[in-house]
Amino acid sequence: MTTAQPRTDLDVQPTPLALLLLGREADPASERGVDCPGDLPSPSDPDLVARARAAKEKLGDKVFVLGHHYQRDEVIQFADVTGDSFKLARDAAARPEAEYIVFCGVHFMAESADILTSDEQKVVLPDLAAGCSMADMATAEQVAECWDVLSEAGVADQVVPVAYMNSSADIKAFTGKHGGTICTSSNAERALEWAFEQGQDPATTKILFLPDQHLGRNTAVRDLGMSLEDCVVYNPHKPNGGLTAERLRDARMILWRGHCSVHGRFSLESVEDVRARVPGVNVLVHPECKHEVVAAADLVGSTEYIIKTLEAAPRGSKWAIGTELNLVRRLANRFAEEDKEIVFLDRTVCFCSTMNRIDLPHLVWTLESLAEGTLVNRIEVDKETEDFAKLALERMLALP
Ligand code: SF4
Repeated sequence: MTTAQPRTDLDVQPTPLALLLLGREADPASERGVDCPGDLPSPSDPDLVARARAAKEKLGDKVFVLGHHYQRDEVIQFADVTGDSFKLARDAAARPEAEYIVFCGVHFMAESADILTSDEQKVVLPDLAAGCSMADMATAEQVAECWDVLSEAGVADQVVPVAYMNSSADIKAFTGKHGGTICTSSNAERALEWAFEQGQDPATTKILFLPDQHLGRNTAVRDLGMSLEDCVVYNPHKPNGGLTAERLRDARMILWRGHCSVHGRFSLESVEDVRARVPGVNVLVHPECKHEVVAAADLVGSTEYIIKTLEAAPRGSKWAIGTELNLVRRLANRFAEEDKEIVFLDRTVCFCSTMNRIDLPHLVWTLESLAEGTLVNRIEVDKETEDFAKLALERMLALP
């Protein structure tokens, strides 16, 4: 559970859905958090860059700006450090002198930063409506209900939960409470191996993988050599998850029915199409993609792996990348001088729309508010949730 400051009243009262789409409102029942207050500067203000720079300079070492890889260029230019969510949270913890951590990312990332930073550090999300559709797909109530289903099927004591970093603090806490660990897209294989060793009998131990079914399936099948039949999908919108007790007893991987709306868009046709369009292309995708996409790709890995692979790629090589478009475009520009051809895997535009809610007006408003001494959009995880979530994160840090 997180808390945030109360909103200011708006002069007009558009519908909640319209406000949500505009990034000026939020759904309190979702990962998007709570209302987003603020008198934002106009996006057409020609002084936005100068204003952000001035406010950041005024704050000095008191502020540390984190920029997730999928953020817009207009925001990334103000980031003190860029990276994936876990790296950024650790970078923030390593800067204790920074009183304000401005997280240009989405809600669950700001929660993770709050969990890993000291009590004196205040984590701020420039737009509280920047959630994550994948994290939204597993709520605390749904996961508690799932555990009841597993108990009734007589398998709960054989199940070790593993939660992907891309989950709310509540889900991380659930995982910590039930003896499980967190994983990232870089260490999912080690996390699953560890989890299977935790059960009394590794042969009968099962993993409940939350909330991304694709990362769970890809890791189990591609890295650990399991079969697709070893995996079942728990659908929280169906009675008993849509599974019989027998199916649950036979399964080794119980995959939560969640996915990333960005990576889930890539298809086998995208891979076949790009191979026909760009002869000699290497297809490199993120493990949040569907299993058939991962199976058809040449290489699979996290955003950090994708960046390192392109850095090490020979001149003249060709790459089709299956991850978020802001990052792919930045990489294409960066490596163009080295004669590396980098294209987006899909023909259609595929930004993370919630990440894109963090724009220059929100960043300017946040930095100027902080510079004036007004703390806005703080993301704060309650103590009990934080303690259990930290337990799960610490298990991940201790992975061999
Ligand atoms: S890219 Fe996917 S997983 Fe990442 S924040 Fe966006 S919706 Fe969530």
